[in-house]
Amino acid sequence: MMLVESGDDLIAIDCGLMFPDDELPGIDHVIPDFTYALERRTGFRAVVLTHGHEDHIGALPYLLRELPVPVYGTPLTLALVAERLREHGLLETADLRSMRPRDRIQAGVFGIEPIRVTHSIADGIGLAIDTPAGTIVHTGDFKLDPSPLDGEAPDYRRFAELGERGVAVLCSDSTNVDRPGHTRSEVEVGQALGGRFDVATGRIIVATFASHIHRIQQVLTLAARTDRRVALLGMSMQRNVTIAADLGYLQVPPAIVVPLEELASLPARQQVILSTGSQGEPHSALALMAAGEHKYVKVERGDLVIISARVIPGHERTIGRVVNALYRLGAEVLYEDNAFVHVSGHASQDDLKLMMSLTRPRYFVPVHGEYRHLLGHARLAESVGIAPERVFLMEDGMGLELSTADARVVGGFPAGRVLVDGKSVGDIGAVVLRDRQLLAEDGLIAVSVAFDKSGVVAAGPEIASRGFVYVKENELLMEELKKAVLAALAERDPDAPFDRELVGATVRSAVRHFVNQRFRRKPVVLPIVLEV
Ligand SMILES: [Zn+2]
Ligand SMILES: [Zn+2]
Repeated sequence: MMLVESGDDLIAIDCGLMFPDDELPGIDHVIPDFTYALERRTGFRAVVLTHGHEDHIGALPYLLRELPVPVYGTPLTLALVAERLREHGLLETADLRSMRPRDRIQAGVFGIEPIRVTHSIADGIGLAIDTPAGTIVHTGDFKLDPSPLDGEAPDYRRFAELGERGVAVLCSDSTNVDRPGHTRSEVEVGQALGGRFDVATGRIIVATFASHIHRIQQVLTLAARTDRRVALLGMSMQRNVTIAADLGYLQVPPAIVVPLEELASLPARQQVILSTGSQGEPHSALALMAAGEHKYVKVERGDLVIISARVIPGHERTIGRVVNALYRLGAEVLYEDNAFVHVSGHASQDDLKLMMSLTRPRYFVPVHGEYRHLLGHARLAESVGIAPERVFLMEDGMGLELSTADARVVGGFPAGRVLVDGKSVGDIGAVVLRDRQLLAEDGLIAVSVAFDKSGVVAAGPEIASRGFVYVKENELLMEELKKAVLAALAERDPDAPFDRELVGATVRSAVRHFVNQRFRRKPVVLPIVLEV
């Protein structure tokens, strides 16, 4: 989420979420810190969305729950947002406002104009934001595909006109800055898939992102061309196809999409399954098929599985597992590493340079990427002649203060990741995460001891364990552990007053010591001290 502020007016560009990595066990989503925006709620004019990917719209429900601010986006983006808001029970109260490329809207002092760009989801836009200090151009996520499927080519002319008129700041997508040349067109991947469809003699299973409307379009078109029918697998695939077809973003050839039962009654060579799970996500349709656990689809010899997607970093192992399993079942598998089955939705170096030369910005701010990508993009800008002192490498929590005369970096904005787990938003901190990691690594031992009024052990210790050892099969060991606890308790000063916390600490350290001596392991130890 990027904020633009002038006087009392504030707008947000996009409001996305991230999915947690291995270091955040049990966390569902990571969302931005809204503190700064919410403190300025009276001047918070709008959220403007560039496209419908999760990393751009996913956190909206959490923001709108706090403040029902108007949300602008193109029709497909808003339709995807509406679906999310419905899930959160927020659709009724949401103020969604449709916008189209070149149709300018006003939000407080800001004049905002959407500009068509191409990306791996249809209906993406960049933005030109007129502010009292000059025009900011934000590319959104983009590639420069001169021949997109829907004919909605990037609006080169508008970017160039803005460049003529004067652009103060260009914020540009850094994702693919490491890739030389131009990003290939979506049409090329369609041709490559077409070659596979032409020669395949059995069933074809294609896994891709449910939001990649144009990839889905190509599969539907190819199926029609090669006399096949298509069944859709996965909730999000079915939902997005319906949304995109209703809005006219997807042309579904007549009678091409059929229910799975109907598909199964056709000869194998007429069957196409279009599925989610291109990242090997554990409960996705593709993963279930690979594991032989899908209710209706059994993968078998003769099947061709095409994973038409990029491997998102962090998913290499899960995808690898799925690919191995599919091969074991006898299928042939095509994926990024062994075939041309995907093109990126982000601009490569030459495209990025073209964007800079079209807009000719006074200042440049690389956005959307890890630090290395932002740095690479900053260097790329310098290589095409933007002076280093006009390039700003900014991280979360930093801001650019822009006037008609100059620009400088200011810091200290509240920013950071807020963790969402079920209904908990932001109340899971470092301690809880550390416990989860320890529990996952070495398990838990709970020891309960009951004391009478005079502080003498009345019952126990009783020991329970999860993920450490199986207590029932280790009774001898448990007896030794109990003895160690009792021995530690016996060393207490008999005249000292009974202190629950102190007794708990004694139990904990006795268990830790024993376990460490025996096993060199560090389970979480939970002492339960009862007074009877
Ligand atoms: Zn995107
Ligand atoms: Zn993105």
